[in-house]
Amino acid sequence: MLNLETLERAADATDRSARSTADPLAPVSPTKVRLEASTFCQLKCPTCETATGELYETVPKGFLRFDHFKAFLDEAEGVTEIELSNFGEVFLNPQLSDILRYAHERGVALHMANGANLNTVRDDVLEAVVKYGLRHIRCSIDGASQETYEQYRRRGNFDTVMANIDKINAFKKQYGSDYPTLTWQFVVFGHNEHEIRKARAMAQERGMDFLLKLNWDENHSPVRDKEMVRREMAHGAASRSEFKEQFGAGYMEHVCHQLWDQPQVNFDGVVWGCCRNNWKPFDANVFEQGLEGAMNSEQLSYARAMLADGAPAREDVPCTTCSLYKAMQRDGRTLQRG
Ligand code: SF4
Repeated sequence: MLNLETLERAADATDRSARSTADPLAPVSPTKVRLEASTFCQLKCPTCETATGELYETVPKGFLRFDHFKAFLDEAEGVTEIELSNFGEVFLNPQLSDILRYAHERGVALHMANGANLNTVRDDVLEAVVKYGLRHIRCSIDGASQETYEQYRRRGNFDTVMANIDKINAFKKQYGSDYPTLTWQFVVFGHNEHEIRKARAMAQERGMDFLLKLNWDENHSPVRDKEMVRREMAHGAASRSEFKEQFGAGYMEHVCHQLWDQPQVNFDGVVWGCCRNNWKPFDANVFEQGLEGAMNSEQLSYARAMLADGAPAREDVPCTTCSLYKAMQRDGRTLQRG
């Protein structure tokens, strides 16, 4: 439900965003933030660095604390939207209901649009998700049967996930709410491509959008029927390398815009910049410096100048070792804002 405070914040956000788009090197004042609620996950997906534990060599393990979240919202008055999911499973956060409630009271829209596996959730948390107006959940379900689903989502239970989606839909009916909207995200592999149509139909039955996504590791269970996958994909590419050939830009290059519009912040306030960076944090903390102070630090401002204005790469900036940045450099391109 939108209140007056939210509408005023949205109007202000539009104005600020128009200014920051006009000059890519101007100071930023993001109205959207990505604040990781949990870096823990209970599944063991084979090519995921959270599951293998590699993530924790650089990114700390932990949950977003309610008192930190509250203090952040109280300070960052211009923030209107927060994405809670990234490397971990957001529903494992033990204070999630409090976080949802407080955001609702403050008129801040929360999302789980990066993804949630929905394997471990109490019914009262599912009710809180609806009661406090969480805007969106992207449900990570790469199959339409247990046999197929568990080949990638190891330790996951397909029937539990379906039951949790049905419970959310039942609460939506009970509360007369359209939120959260639900998307079934299906990462296409060779082992699950035969279930795309069945999954799409199951999503439709539950009022969910259906989104096919390309596998990030082309060597893990690569697609077999490339022609069929090209037909099913809205963009017509069957792999990330095909996408690059077709469009001349990386499949995930859009995430660089998060350095301006929706910075990735870990549960402890440390700024990682974008949802892809898991190798080196920026030297900035939104809980200590405030959102604008952190986002306009010298290092983050310089990173934006590297990407959008071709400033020379600098060793202390995480983007310098990112394959997307290196590809832009090789192609002689800079990031086009707006
Ligand atoms: S270059 Fe890489 S690390 Fe830097 S913002 Fe883009 S995706 Fe993130």
